[in-house]
Amino acid sequence: MANLKAYNVALKGLGLGKHRFDYQVGSAFFKYFDGGIADDGNVDITLELEKQSALIVLWFHVRGTVKIQCDRCLDLFDQPVDSQNKVFVKYGEEKFEEGDDVVWVAPDESHINVAKLIYDFIILSIPIKHVHPDDANGESLCNPEMLEKLNLLSVQDVEQEEEPETDSRWDELKKLLE
Ligand SMILES: [Zn+2]
Repeated sequence: MANLKAYNVALKGLGLGKHRFDYQVGSAFFKYFDGGIADDGNVDITLELEKQSALIVLWFHVRGTVKIQCDRCLDLFDQPVDSQNKVFVKYGEEKFEEGDDVVWVAPDESHINVAKLIYDFIILSIPIKHVHPDDANGESLCNPEMLEKLNLLSVQDVEQEEEPETDSRWDELKKLLE
């Protein structure tokens, strides 16, 4: 399991101004969050933190690939992701509704864990359409065998599902011969 402590950013003792943190996440990280869409990937994250007197600004730049399933051919493929997101960290005992880009922390909090933020930004940067990209010649990179099978299936649907007749006894006999 991924150790999420690595994503703790110390707030106490952090000087005013800019700080930079680099992270790299892989399959253990994705499996920890068990997101469904992507349970593997390879993403670099740069976190630029700017501490101001009253609040902290976090810029996350996520860049890499996530493994997702193609909706067309059902193969897994590496979907490139690249996005930048800004979050404000504010101090307060109460959480005021101010949209998704504000994280409230208690004034005495010693650190903030950014793992979930990183995960959410990666997932948000995945396009809605999960389909293999085209190659340089505009040809689909989908699994051609699978597409052919799917085509055959849809043709068979039209022809009233002509299932190939198999004799289970014959299959058993073949197993014995092997
Ligand atoms: Zn595909």
